[in-house]
Amino acid sequence: MALSRSARLGSLATAAASFLVIAASSAPTPGADGIGDPYFPQLGNGGFDARHYALDIAYNPDTDRLDGRAMLTARATRTLSSFDLDLQKLEVTQVDVNGRRARFTRDGDELRITPRDALRKGRTFTVTVTYGGIPEPLGGPIVFGSNYGWMKTGDGVFVACEPNAASTWFPSSDHPSDKATYDIRIKAPKGLTGVSNGRLVSTYDRGGSTYTHWRETRPMATYLATATIGKFDVKTGRTPGGIPIYVAIDPKLVNSNSVDVYAVTAAATDYWSQVFGPYPFEETGAIVDDMPEAGFSLEVQSKPAYSAVRNETTIVHELAHQWFGDSVSVERWKDIWLNEGFATYAQWLWAEHQGTRSAHDSFRAAYDARPADSAFWQIKVADPQRDTMFASAVYQRGAMTLQALRERIGDAAFFRLLPAWTRLHRYGNANTADFVRLAEKVSGRKLGDLFQEWLFTTGKPAL
Ligand SMILES: [Zn+2]
Repeated sequence: MALSRSARLGSLATAAASFLVIAASSAPTPGADGIGDPYFPQLGNGGFDARHYALDIAYNPDTDRLDGRAMLTARATRTLSSFDLDLQKLEVTQVDVNGRRARFTRDGDELRITPRDALRKGRTFTVTVTYGGIPEPLGGPIVFGSNYGWMKTGDGVFVACEPNAASTWFPSSDHPSDKATYDIRIKAPKGLTGVSNGRLVSTYDRGGSTYTHWRETRPMATYLATATIGKFDVKTGRTPGGIPIYVAIDPKLVNSNSVDVYAVTAAATDYWSQVFGPYPFEETGAIVDDMPEAGFSLEVQSKPAYSAVRNETTIVHELAHQWFGDSVSVERWKDIWLNEGFATYAQWLWAEHQGTRSAHDSFRAAYDARPADSAFWQIKVADPQRDTMFASAVYQRGAMTLQALRERIGDAAFFRLLPAWTRLHRYGNANTADFVRLAEKVSGRKLGDLFQEWLFTTGKPAL
């Protein structure tokens, strides 16, 4: 067979065209500057998947200066000519990609990095950022009007970063949809303790400094990372159920006898392990600091951080988040009720477990306390909007939703659903539609009307 001249030319042209298409699809392009979360469009970054952060930080409370070196191991999800990390305010002095110096520019909270060679799709790469400065906390309406993030205390710093303040102290892909494991090394003046996530690998003094190395081997959202530094009395051991526990309390607060943080942490970790499924992390615990002006506590992974001595209800709430929020994380911030509604419902379950009040009565109290014309009922729980993402409705109406669900599907199905949820999405991300789907599957019931009324509609639902 012989090709005709015109056919041959046509086929060559087609071949050339398809070559161009292939080249275009694999040509290096810049990574996106955000993952497109409607509440925080520039948080997180597109084009790679963060796998592991190795953070080395040195902090001096006298000067308030942080010096850091962050090495991120990531996998390119497409071929990248450049990519972004999130970093707020701190100064960058050097960036290396795969051990070679890379160019970088700053644009607001974005750090744009251009490696010498394109990063091929599917390949793992490392980026090391050397940086430093005086970290500033964030403020504004989001976190109950409080400052949050990197907060200076009398003897160090209290670090609690939900939702968007992790990038005030380390360069990162600062969105919960991009979870990673961590090694966190803290250098602080001798006598101070650096407390972080996961398990303590080593601690030692050298010169005038104390070095502490922590390792979190389970995937963690950036906002759940901490490097809280100060004077701490530390108590370690195991819960009665056998889970390692590490509780650090500011010595100024040790004699506050309002609650036994260690005992409540141990008991709640064990009880939630029965109700919600196996404890997802290697260690449980608490960090109790003297930072009362922060006014909030955070479910820091493996060790909730309390800005003061908090009550038993707060402790059981933060520990419930280890399943709901930390292990199963939101895919987008509008799903925040999957964290706060569940942790609030856990408070009701705790009271039921203690025999002080049934969850039904807690539901009725929360429902009856708010008249139909209250602004409380005007928040759409499954999409509360950025500045009201921590509105009380997200907590209370979120918890009411779960009690309404429990009363519809019955205790047997409801208490199969909770551990099924934490098992299905363990260490991952999930959204409201995923929960509705699983609730229908586990119960064998159509539940769209219930969730529509409680989560997606404003106004006070009729009982
Ligand atoms: Zn919470």
